[in-house]
Amino acid sequence: MANKITAIRGMNDIFADSAEAFDYLVKTSENVLHQYGYHSIRLPLVEKTELFARSIGEVTDIVEKEMYTFADRNGDSLTLRPEGTAGCVRAVIQNGLTHNQVQKLYYTGPMFRYERPQKGRYRQFHQFGVEVFGLPEGQIDAELIILSARLWEQLGLENLELQINTLGSNEARMAYRQILVDYFSEHKEQLDEDSLRRLDSNPLRILDSKNPDMKELIEQAPKLIDHLDADCLQHFEEVKAHLDDCGIEYVVNPNLVRGLDYYNRTVFEWVTTELGAQGTVCAGGRYDGLVEQIGGKATPAVGFAMGIERLVALLMDKNLVPPQRQADIFLVLLGEKVTRPGMVLAESLREAFPQANVQMNIGGGSFKSQFKKADKSGAAYAIVLGDQEVEQQVAAVKPLREEGEQKTVAWDELVDYMQPLLNA
Ligand code: ATP
Ligand code: MG
Repeated sequence: MANKITAIRGMNDIFADSAEAFDYLVKTSENVLHQYGYHSIRLPLVEKTELFARSIGEVTDIVEKEMYTFADRNGDSLTLRPEGTAGCVRAVIQNGLTHNQVQKLYYTGPMFRYERPQKGRYRQFHQFGVEVFGLPEGQIDAELIILSARLWEQLGLENLELQINTLGSNEARMAYRQILVDYFSEHKEQLDEDSLRRLDSNPLRILDSKNPDMKELIEQAPKLIDHLDADCLQHFEEVKAHLDDCGIEYVVNPNLVRGLDYYNRTVFEWVTTELGAQGTVCAGGRYDGLVEQIGGKATPAVGFAMGIERLVALLMDKNLVPPQRQADIFLVLLGEKVTRPGMVLAESLREAFPQANVQMNIGGGSFKSQFKKADKSGAAYAIVLGDQEVEQQVAAVKPLREEGEQKTVAWDELVDYMQPLLNA
């Protein structure tokens, strides 16, 4: 036998119950987004490397060490998208979608990051992302948070904690950056290797460190919120007021800075303690500078991305995925001459009842084994076709879930006969 070829580490097949949960999550998310008037956008999986370097930031984990970058046959440097925002921003600029109009968009699909695979962290993973262009008001930041809360409610997910923070304006952040550098420089001996490196390049990211040895040092650090401009504080108050009005609970986490460079003002994360270390299931914020940074006209923007695998794991752990739709009708086909008329009958039922799930035995088998299959399919009715029925152009309809007579029905009356039964 030839060697088995296996999948790439960290790039998983998603099948059976996980695939059901995945589809259910995406459909439910789309429904909520439609309820708020958002539209779908479909984007390429591959972009020029420069797009990510310029938008995500040169000194971020993603750009420094997580991107799948390769030269195509022309020698151009391309990258498998590690996240969706950069490509979405490129698309709205390139297609002129932000000229005098607001865009409220959502997308879903795979993202790629070269990380160490573990529970909740993969190399190909999936996000459901939402982006809004053209609205500076805190109202829309709040709407994004509120609609995600509505989604958790519809999914039956409880115990997700909302953490929010504001990063202020770029100017205020630059001033704070210096204050932070001064503070950490005074305590250089307590910094780990990553943080030492970030001290010059991206000191705010030190606040994001998950190293327990640095926890206290970080807690004592000067807080960005104490160094913000009045406008940004006012904006943050507006966001919080909307959340309060709509009964959304939150925790202000002053150390929430997010891993990507492009954020300003509102940032937020939905976190669970029930998935181990990989607890953030949804994260986002405002990025007013990014459209201009990538070559568009300055446009306010805000968005978030959900981690589908982590949410799927939660839904499955908590048994929150509704069972797959079961069959309504199962055709039992017994005999030499039954397959062709059986197929035609099944099609006429599917034509007449577009909402119904009509399954059919394929591959022969005894009466008993076919009824076993019918029972397993969950069908409320079996329609039995034997050579004798074919001869007489009739079929036997047998209720499977409740007591009731088996009835012999002519083919051309079958749809009318089934109509009230299916609607019951
Ligand atoms: P983390 O701190 O967990 O690395 P991040 O800040 O890098 O997350 P984002 O870039 O904000 O993540 O992506 C949004 C969401 O996508 C995350 O909150 C998470 O749910 C999910 N996500 C990110 N990276 C992965 C991954 N490698 N595997 C699975 N899900 C991921
Ligand atoms: Mg990450």
